[in-house]
Amino acid sequence: MIAVLPQASNPDIRLATGLEDLIGLSRTDLIERLAGIGLPKFRAGQIWHWLYHRGATDLDEMTTLAKPLRTELATRFRVGRLEIAREQRSVDGTIKWLFRFPDGNEAETVFIPEDDRGTLCVSSQIGCTLTCSFCHTGTQRLVRNLTSGEIVGQVMAALDVLEAWPAAQVNRPVTNIVLMGMGEPLYNLDNVAKAIHVIMDNEGIAISKRRITLSTSGVVPEMIRCGAETGVNLAISLHGVTDAIRDILVPINKKYPLAQLLQACRNYPGTNNARRITFEYVMLKDLNDSPADARALVRLIKGIPAKINLIPFNPWPGSPYECSDTAAIDAFAEIVMQAGYASPVRRPRGSDILAACGQLKSDSQRLRKRNREVAVSAA
Ligand code: SAH
Ligand code: SF4
Repeated sequence: MIAVLPQASNPDIRLATGLEDLIGLSRTDLIERLAGIGLPKFRAGQIWHWLYHRGATDLDEMTTLAKPLRTELATRFRVGRLEIAREQRSVDGTIKWLFRFPDGNEAETVFIPEDDRGTLCVSSQIGCTLTCSFCHTGTQRLVRNLTSGEIVGQVMAALDVLEAWPAAQVNRPVTNIVLMGMGEPLYNLDNVAKAIHVIMDNEGIAISKRRITLSTSGVVPEMIRCGAETGVNLAISLHGVTDAIRDILVPINKKYPLAQLLQACRNYPGTNNARRITFEYVMLKDLNDSPADARALVRLIKGIPAKINLIPFNPWPGSPYECSDTAAIDAFAEIVMQAGYASPVRRPRGSDILAACGQLKSDSQRLRKRNREVAVSAA
């Protein structure tokens, strides 16, 4: 039964139900799947509209399809929704969801409402292979990559809770997406890019590439491909201005040191003054927060159309660092502002529910070898 089905976007869901999840399939995949059962291309357009514009959660809601067709489709496909294992709401309006996937693994997503926008911070992996020493996710080993369906699914679930359907409404609650949750998105670029294309599609969720930002710790070889394939805004987790300090804070620096990273930023497609690269810089007491560091930071990124985001360190249980004093952050910010970068300090959000930058971590255990083999043989 499983063997005759085409490749699923989410093997785990197909494993559990025998049905392929439509969420996360690219438009081309969807057209192909339907062509495989003799349906013309326009049906894919109709189904896409129901899925991503209307937010339908069941094939039976798709009333522009005749009932017998819906019944036929339901023998092969399903419209997946992620299971919300926990929802937490901060006093500042931030919401954090813990999603549980069919294989038992979990990942977190955060919604951050602001006056002029609503930002959804999405995860790309369960855990992370990298071990940045100030990041909670970095203490958890990589369990696995998320599928495109699971990445899109985080957005769908948030839009459900926020009652944000149909997608193209005025004052929509979610206006921006940041890939700044758990994981390193450039180590899962195939699935991330596929998900981004679904999220950007104009006849669906329609959040434009200008409102999507992908944050990387600096996976240099994938940066250009990311720009070329998705065109989204790039954020770099810089955090240190010398290789010596960055090697400690962001160990991938040993593989791709600062000079290579900054060259890749200079080459990032489509960067100009209207579309700048964001440099994220976590403020760690007595480690990287001196006025000399601030001046070095400004010198380092000279010539790159850039924004600077100073992130006060968000502590987590057992974290080895302290956040810089307010005075140190102010002095650092002043030097950065004098150099022409506006409002550089990022206000922590949702820290009472451990939803702020770098605080996400799930209890997922590394996928057992046996489970992984089952999933792979079903794919
Ligand atoms: N893996 C990607 C994206 C996720 S992290 C990356 O590293 O860029 C999103 C941002 O939060 C990164 O800039 C990360 O360095 C920062 N961050 C991680 N832990 C933090 C903490 N404890 N306090 C403040 N920022 C943190
Ligand atoms: Fe992974 Fe980013 Fe955390 Fe580093 S900062 S451990 S790359 S999630």
